[in-house]
Amino acid sequence: MLDAILTPEQKMLRDETRAFVKGVPRKLILDMDADQVHYPREFVNDLAERHLLGLRFPVEYGGRGLGWSDEIVALEEVGILGTSLACLYSLPSIVGEALHVFGTPEQKERWLRPVLEGKLTVAEALTEPRGGSDFFGTTTVARQEGDEFVLDGQKRFVVGAEGADLFLVYARTNLEAKSRKGLSAFIVERGHGVDVEHVYGLLGTRGGGTGRIYFRGARVPRKNLIGPLNGAAEVFYQMMIPERMTSAAGALGMARASLEVAARYSDRRKAFGQKIRSFEGVNFKVADSITQLDAARMLVYGAARSLDLGDDPHRCRRLVSEAKKFATDTAWQVVNHAMQILGGIGYTNVYPIERLLRDTRLIMIWTGTNEVMSLIIQHEYYRELLGRRDTARDIEKDATEADQGEEKVYE
Ligand SMILES: Cc1cc2nc3c(=O)[nH]c(=O)nc-3n(C[C@H](O)[C@H](O)[C@H](O)COP(=O)(O)OP(=O)(O)OC[C@H]3O[C@@H](n4cnc5c(N)ncnc54)[C@H](O)[C@@H]3O)c2cc1C
Repeated sequence: MLDAILTPEQKMLRDETRAFVKGVPRKLILDMDADQVHYPREFVNDLAERHLLGLRFPVEYGGRGLGWSDEIVALEEVGILGTSLACLYSLPSIVGEALHVFGTPEQKERWLRPVLEGKLTVAEALTEPRGGSDFFGTTTVARQEGDEFVLDGQKRFVVGAEGADLFLVYARTNLEAKSRKGLSAFIVERGHGVDVEHVYGLLGTRGGGTGRIYFRGARVPRKNLIGPLNGAAEVFYQMMIPERMTSAAGALGMARASLEVAARYSDRRKAFGQKIRSFEGVNFKVADSITQLDAARMLVYGAARSLDLGDDPHRCRRLVSEAKKFATDTAWQVVNHAMQILGGIGYTNVYPIERLLRDTRLIMIWTGTNEVMSLIIQHEYYRELLGRRDTARDIEKDATEADQGEEKVYE
């Protein structure tokens, strides 16, 4: 994040997180990328020990009572480790949001606190084989039987399918109601009827145990219901804030890491007797990367401030979606520039750019694809613009022949 906009406390948080990130063993990153690790619990435990998980949540449950403007500072730092570790850092923030906003005091005590203490690990199970973008088309069913719900269905692409203790699962509890009004959210503990049957071979973002989960008559106590029965739409919209803010802020770290590797390389590598950074074809890519990264940072920061200040939820939704889309697109462009600047060696595993490139490809797809982000951005913009009683200048009248009403044909 830009120094000038950080408070002294945020700078301290940045330095604290940076020190943690510096100490993460290189071997862990490489072993995860080689799929030799399926869920690095010790990484989550280390974060918890340093009190770095769920920074936004109240101190009484183990958070630090901070805001989004603070959490994004830590996220950018963790982001330089790549998508997998940034995701494992983010999951307590994402699932924790549902528990924090919708959980009862007992539920927070039972799950939020141990999650922030690193005693329990969490995953979120939204996506189904039939589609992720059409979330409200969820087909996993939870039938009520006395004091329990019985879950049947499947979820796929769940990070932590292998390794997490708890899953936040969305299931249909009213088959007659319209899709949005018939879903409920549950905490499902790993156990009987919860089976992981496929762990994916991924292009990048490896080592997080991303798999497919089957629920076959999984019995979930009613007290595991998060939020109102059939009221999961609200939980979902709330969770999409951390879901997308964590992707956006983590992307800044990956972009920064790639840019720094490339800029240093360009200052050492020579061609035609000169440092390659002296070629416009190289240094303009560096300039574009810096500019895009700073623009992405400001958009992420703007979304964070809007959330912290309690701005209109629709405007926040638009800004969060813009931040996710722009920061992840930026990371992809910056890492591609970096690979181009490194030339052939950038395509090898002598430098980490190829791993970061594989990692950043995902972030334009998950937590809502960037096409879905565009869908939300334009929807919320039209809603705001067309629903507004304007007090601003009517710019349409600033045309020489603005009064030619018969020329203004719309149908
Ligand atoms: C490695 C990995 C980890 C993941 N982790 C998790 C996780 O932990 N938990 C979880 O629940 N999910 C997770 N996901 C799922 C991810 O969020 C979904 O893959 C994503 O939301 C897209 O859903 P889909 O793959 O079903 O694609 P689809 O929804 O089938 O979309 C296919 C294409 O159609 C486009 N499209 C669809 N609808 C529209 C529309 N209305 N307008 C414009 N374009 C549209 C999409 O943009 C996309 O290009 C993960 C995915 C991967 C690959």
